[in-house]
Amino acid sequence: MGWSGAAKVNRAADIDGAAAEPAARALAPRRREGKRLSIVTPMHNEAEVLDAFFARLDAVIGGLGMEVEIVCVDDGSRDSTLGALMLRAMRDRRVKVVALARNFGKEAALTAGIDASRGDAVVPIDADLQDPPELIAEFVKRWEEGYDVVYGARSDRSSDTPLKRATAFLFYRVFNYVSDLDIPESAGDFRLLDRQVVEALKRLPERNRFMKGLFAWVGFRQIGVPYVRPQRAAGESSFGYLRLWRFALDGITSFSTAPLRIWTALGFVGAVLAVVAAVALIVWVMVRGREVPGYASLMVAILLGFAIQMIAFGVLGEYVGRLYQEVKGRPIYVVRERIGFDD
Ligand code: UDP
Ligand code: MG
Repeated sequence: MGWSGAAKVNRAADIDGAAAEPAARALAPRRREGKRLSIVTPMHNEAEVLDAFFARLDAVIGGLGMEVEIVCVDDGSRDSTLGALMLRAMRDRRVKVVALARNFGKEAALTAGIDASRGDAVVPIDADLQDPPELIAEFVKRWEEGYDVVYGARSDRSSDTPLKRATAFLFYRVFNYVSDLDIPESAGDFRLLDRQVVEALKRLPERNRFMKGLFAWVGFRQIGVPYVRPQRAAGESSFGYLRLWRFALDGITSFSTAPLRIWTALGFVGAVLAVVAAVALIVWVMVRGREVPGYASLMVAILLGFAIQMIAFGVLGEYVGRLYQEVKGRPIYVVRERIGFDD
């Protein structure tokens, strides 16, 4: 809802095609030679897929012609993920490990990894091979053309259940409507970020890190590269519907205050209706005389009004709770150990 009067930003998120032409002329090409690439992977209980993940990644990295670091963030795994990562870091200088003190959640883990990365370009990627590492070669090509953000755009969601697809669709419709941003429904966290974008991201101090929103908020020249998102290679998704619901609330509340303000409008409409009803009632009594008052209709009105008030209070609580979190100013994550870093 454009109540803030601000124009929608970041419309230029064209997906690989003719629409990108006007922007393309303004692009300043880069060269990959001598540049460094950081691959950033949040990991929570991913021991089962680690070997396959590194094998696929290795095959891609070799052909890039860039110096590569792989920053793995262990987000409080309860399986052998951390041990396996440490072993790997000992054998392979490119592998660096940030071990968080507990499970802080994917968004925090990703933030920790991005903070620790030093590359000229940074690629966040999931460990479960749902983000095909082969796409990184394409990302780098687009980055060389001059794009600052190259995101993977899922060209179909057939690997998701129909319910997840429907809820995702609904979420993006609502999000894009109530916020001043336009985030492409097809984009996830899998993308390439230029160092400049990373530095801009690091200046956003908020604790509530809805990364997709933050990626869009910083702007820059963005482009999507279509791909088909496969099923998780092994292991289990950490995101059930309850967690997705909370995630959706986080996203909307941190980029829009429309849910708060809507009650002003509803309250106003309610007040007008009440006045109209009161007048109608007075006229009715004057014309027809007094009748036995309806208990049922009265109860309905009271209960409905009460329920609406409760919802309004709940929405207020969502914001006040988040405000409280931000005000406390606690760090987004706590690192227990860093392995393989020079600094
Ligand atoms: N992840 C994490 N911390 C968490 C949950 C997930 O670091 O608390 C990582 C996980 O290891 C994976 C990525 O975030 O690399 C995506 O998680 P998942 O595959 O469970 O999510 P989905 O693909 O189902 O949305
Ligand atoms: Mg996954």
